[in-house]
Amino acid sequence: MSKKKKIRVDFIKNRGKAPRVNDFTRDFKTASEKIDDLSGTQQVRAKGDISRKRTIITNDDSGGQDGEVRPAADLINAIPGRVIQITGLTVLVQVGNGAIYRCTVRRLLKTLATDERSAVTTGDKVWIIPEHIPLTLELVPKLDPVPDSAVLPVGVVQTVEPRKGILTRKSKHKDHVIVANVDQVMFVISLSQPELKVHLVDRYIAGALEGKLEPILCFNKVDLISEDQYQYLVGLYSQLGYKVLFTSTRTGVGIDDVRHVLSNKQSVVCGQSGVGKSSLLNAVQPNLGLRVNVVSEVNQKGKHTTTSAKLIPLECKGWVVDTPGIRSFELSNQMPSEVENFFREFRPMLPYCEFADCTHTHETGCAIKRQVFRRVISPDRYLSYLGMIKKEDPHESRHER
Ligand code: GDP
Ligand code: ZN
Repeated sequence: MSKKKKIRVDFIKNRGKAPRVNDFTRDFKTASEKIDDLSGTQQVRAKGDISRKRTIITNDDSGGQDGEVRPAADLINAIPGRVIQITGLTVLVQVGNGAIYRCTVRRLLKTLATDERSAVTTGDKVWIIPEHIPLTLELVPKLDPVPDSAVLPVGVVQTVEPRKGILTRKSKHKDHVIVANVDQVMFVISLSQPELKVHLVDRYIAGALEGKLEPILCFNKVDLISEDQYQYLVGLYSQLGYKVLFTSTRTGVGIDDVRHVLSNKQSVVCGQSGVGKSSLLNAVQPNLGLRVNVVSEVNQKGKHTTTSAKLIPLECKGWVVDTPGIRSFELSNQMPSEVENFFREFRPMLPYCEFADCTHTHETGCAIKRQVFRRVISPDRYLSYLGMIKKEDPHESRHER
């Protein structure tokens, strides 16, 4: 049971009283229902409008290691939205009707941010309080791309919903959340120019599984090689149960499949440079790549840009995440006991290895190697596995043949 603690914090008064609009009364109801889910053991006790301080009752470990502590917020007049981009201190939040708000983050949220856990990140589902509510929401301009100088309605991020499907980047042994609430990763792999690298595909799959994201394999440039040269990939990866797409932005083959896979999902698109990611996204939605470029140019100019991830809405109702930092999303070398879990076809065989700590390399009585010899496990996949494990010290190995 965690201890409760009271914190006195500054009371941030909403600037200007928002007029009540019917729409917002409805939003408020959902908001208050939501706050019950969000707050958990936390409660907010505002001491009325005039108080300069207020007391927050929260778990004693507020702002601690778990990174999941969020202060409850006053959600009167708050509306739900999605963080589509963060530039410096500005958080761009898109709400249900498509309008984009330029937001700051409530001071209390920032106070509780830790090194590992930023207060707000791209992809977060948030509740914002608009500084002033436009007479009718429909009058808010829809701007896409969002020019830096655009006059957008302004708001304050009040609270962040719990995150699922987090994509992180390791830097100095710490994980930084680049984007939250991602469903799947689409890896674009070129069949030719640049040459197909099968071991990279397996690293990609492992990286996605490690991040608890569904991998989708998109083999592009089918126009450059004959079908019999890549047919085995269909067999190999479809049999393993992964979604496999074959595409060409030249002939238009498979573009509908890509659109279908991306619709209603939040996806990250990854792959080496030159494999055709931009061309694919442009084929899925003409002019998309162009817009991506426009926005990233704006980003690079902003001096205080800390996060460059951006959500791009698709006409097929999905979102794609554009972030240069994760283009090389792949699993780095790890211990065999971890890597073996990312090879789905190994799992049923693992109990049959003679040694419980079998690394499937030099040991006798290895069930994995037996299945590789029998071609039940693909030799290519096994080679990928070997390439991904940390080589152990030969002096320490015990189960030598
Ligand atoms: P990105 O770096 O992954 O975004 O790749 P681009 O979309 O910029 O494409 C790199 C190059 O590959 C460009 O010259 C494209 O015209 C070319 N390309 C993209 N898709 C295909 C394809 O399906 N077939 C062929 N032959 N070339 C392609
Ligand atoms: Zn083994």
